[in-house]
Amino acid sequence: MERGFLMRTQETHVLAQTWQLYCLDCLQLHQEHFETWHGKGDTIAWRHHGMPSQPPWIDPSCPGCRGLRVKVLPTRSFIPRQS
Ligand SMILES: [Zn+2]
Repeated sequence: MERGFLMRTQETHVLAQTWQLYCLDCLQLHQEHFETWHGKGDTIAWRHHGMPSQPPWIDPSCPGCRGLRVKVLPTRSFIPRQS
């Protein structure tokens, strides 16, 4: 999904998040890092590995076996260094 409107403004901040993906096929627990971009209190965009992405709970797939039977669990949020 292409999101072309991402811009750094004074009203936008970025939150780094770690999500856990538990795969019911290979029974592995994977940690994936996402960024959420917020403006005026709303989440306006998600990024994954620096690329625009859908939220982690939308069509999750296992990073190991590419299986689609994945439970998505949020772990924690933290403020990344500001650039
Ligand atoms: Zn798997």
